[in-house]
Amino acid sequence: MTVDSTVNSTAGDALGGHPPGSAAARQAHELLARERRTHIAEIGLLEEDSAPDEAVMARRGALQTNLEEIDAALARLADGVYGLCEDCRKPVPEGRLEIIPYARRCVGCQQRRR
Ligand SMILES: [Zn+2]
Repeated sequence: MTVDSTVNSTAGDALGGHPPGSAAARQAHELLARERRTHIAEIGLLEEDSAPDEAVMARRGALQTNLEEIDAALARLADGVYGLCEDCRKPVPEGRLEIIPYARRCVGCQQRRR
């Protein structure tokens, strides 16, 4: 991943980002860490199923994918680029991050991807 050199802690602030060490970054980290724990717990429960049906397998796959997204979001948080759209580099609205804390893109860019 390439990090835009113009994204430093002050620019991140101006962009509505989550610069490392800021209250917004701590809050996002807490949210992601909680999501991570619940995902791992649910995957653990599903893995106890010795004869999983299709629905269980699909759920496991979805959880695993989400978990990877959560880890990627934690990495972006450490890099100081969390909360910035990967395509247009504008801040992803807070409301969207509250629902999907690991969202990579703003709604507009995400829809263009489909
Ligand atoms: Zn965007």
